Amino acid sequence: MPIDPTLPYDDTNIFARILRAEIPCRKVYEDDHALAFHDINPQAPVHILVIPKGAYVSWDDFSAKASDAEIAGFIRAVGHVAREAGVAATGYRLMANMGGHGHQEVAHLHVHIFGGRQFREMIPREAVSS
Ligand code: AMP
Repeated sequence: MPIDPTLPYDDTNIFARILRAEIPCRKVYEDDHALAFHDINPQAPVHILVIPKGAYVSWDDFSAKASDAEIAGFIRAVGHVAREAGVAATGYRLMANMGGHGHQEVAHLHVHIFGGRQFREMIPREAVSS
């Protein structure tokens, strides 16, 4: 069920609980600004989620309110994690679902890194006409 991105940040969301180490994750990277871990339901040989440490609901929230240092740190972390995962040479796909139409399910900003196989079109073509 997609989230309502207009609601304030709710620190009971699953990624907030991972950040507080209340529930485990398969961590691949952590620094001052970001945490990266394997998606629990991988859609590709490499499927890693990168989340900012700050309390941001979505890409919209983060891009509007995060500091320059948080934004730079987060973007650098995404690139670093992809390189460390070994997909920079073969290519990878980034995805940040936002709100209802974006089908965002967890109300803490996360960027998906998908890699390790060939991807085709970005989204199903029938979506263009609907
Ligand atoms: P999104 O639709 O972009 O909000 O995707 C949420 C993603 O979080 C999905 O790919 C889930 O498989 C993933 N996910 C949900 N709970 C966990 C968890 N506890 N650990 C790792 N990934 C999770």
